[in-house]
Amino acid sequence: MWLLVLGIGCSGCATELADPSVQAPSAVVDVLIVGSGPAGLSAAWAAREAGARVLILELADTVGPTAGYADNFLLADTQAQRDAGLVDSLERVAQEWPDFTEGGDAQDPMVQAFIAGLPGLEAWFLSLGAEITGPRGDKDAGMTPRLHGVRVGSGSPAESLALDLSESVWTQHRAVDVVLDEGAVVGVRFIDERSGSSGWVRAGATVVATGGFARNLDLVKSYRPELEDVALLYESHPLSSGAGLELLASADADAQNLGSIGVYVHAMADPRPGFDGEALLVPMLPMGMAVDASGERLTNEDSLWGLRMDSLLVAAEERRIWVLLPEEDWAHMDVLVPGYNSDQPRERLDPAELEAMGAVQIYADIQAVADGLDLPEAVLVEEFERYSAATETGVDEEFGKDVFLLRPFSGSIVVVEVRAAAAKSFGGARIDLEGRVLDGSPAPVPGLYAAGEVVGMLGTPDIGRGFAGSISAVHWTGLLAGESAASYGIESR
Ligand SMILES: Cc1cc2nc3c(=O)[nH]c(=O)nc-3n(C[C@H](O)[C@H](O)[C@H](O)COP(=O)(O)OP(=O)(O)OC[C@H]3O[C@@H](n4cnc5c(N)ncnc54)[C@H](O)[C@@H]3O)c2cc1C
Repeated sequence: MWLLVLGIGCSGCATELADPSVQAPSAVVDVLIVGSGPAGLSAAWAAREAGARVLILELADTVGPTAGYADNFLLADTQAQRDAGLVDSLERVAQEWPDFTEGGDAQDPMVQAFIAGLPGLEAWFLSLGAEITGPRGDKDAGMTPRLHGVRVGSGSPAESLALDLSESVWTQHRAVDVVLDEGAVVGVRFIDERSGSSGWVRAGATVVATGGFARNLDLVKSYRPELEDVALLYESHPLSSGAGLELLASADADAQNLGSIGVYVHAMADPRPGFDGEALLVPMLPMGMAVDASGERLTNEDSLWGLRMDSLLVAAEERRIWVLLPEEDWAHMDVLVPGYNSDQPRERLDPAELEAMGAVQIYADIQAVADGLDLPEAVLVEEFERYSAATETGVDEEFGKDVFLLRPFSGSIVVVEVRAAAAKSFGGARIDLEGRVLDGSPAPVPGLYAAGEVVGMLGTPDIGRGFAGSISAVHWTGLLAGESAASYGIESR
């Protein structure tokens, strides 16, 4: 049903087992997992622990192609917090939930189970050999600092799982539709991308963990019509196309919260040839002054590094925001290439090269900025003078910006046009407390489970507009779905 809603064609229509095109399966397993991202790998780990025969189909040519990106994990009441002298509790997470998720409901059973599961998640990471560091504050994760670094050796937990589970993965295998037998999902058809041949895997239970749809900007805009005129950039890996939603929809899965898309307004457009529409990340934008086409200052610039600043951009005059930076600060700034567009860890681009490519403009003074950007000069100059006074006194009466971020302008001014980029899906298929995919009634679709971004992190609209550190929910739903799928899959041997 929501195939149509999604605007996706029917390439992912389910195949009936009785269909003559269904040949002997290429493999028979208890649990088949589609996708080897953090959710799929966690599900595979849990299913294997429960004694299931497990296979993962992965479209990319490597195991866990997305495993290494996330480094901020929401965890609560942790040893790292206690070591830092911070008091946190699961009750506090629940209290703050509606606020930091902008409208989520902590009474929702899925949300309650997730919050209650956070200590177990911390313990699981530790059992994998993780070092947990931090915490760091972020208003999108609540009032208490609770974003943590989680590293297993030099990599992420998912990278460690990818090594551990590599023998259970068929890479370059694209799952194309589910196979149904009397309404139950009994496996998945695939195309082997190397040869173009197709086949299917018979499975007692199937876990779909194919990630989100933030790369599919048509889909994003169809759920967020107010972003229609906004020139969105990509800020998710190229495989986040929403393809797994087709598989789920073909088995009658219900969808929820699809308009809840994490859009960051903290990027600049990558000017390099071959990177059209791609984002570059500029973490130090809060050191500048943000204005729109009216020439007015818009916000406490610190907020630019948060989720959900899309409303600021939509409200901005002409839907454009520029950040003005002192040239001497810009010269030392990190401009980061997102991991999926680089073969080096944390690749930085040289600000001078970006200038040469015309990615930023440099002006001698504020009048020249007004002239160059065609902004109302009187308004801009007045705002600039007020901001400059704040940098001198250390008091930003208008927006209360932190004194450490109030950088004085003494020479030339660098202007960066800040762009919005679609990063994460906080909506997708609906799941229950066992990770089972629900149909519209809502009843579980027999044999079908899902986890991670394809379920919008938690499988419930009570995640609101999402939260920072959602990779924790990705792993948590992965473990949930993997364990439940193992029990169902083993029973149906
Ligand atoms: C640069 C970057 C930094 C990030 N930093 C953070 C952070 O600090 N904190 C945080 O919480 N989140 C962060 N995220 C988001 C986080 O990485 C994702 O939310 C997470 O990876 C989602 O996990 P997943 O397993 O659900 O899906 P994915 O990681 O998207 O994995 C899905 C997998 O399914 C495979 N697949 C897709 N379709 C098919 C198919 N038809 N057949 C077979 N396989 C298929 C894909 O190839 C992929 O391997 C970041 C993302 C990026 C790109």
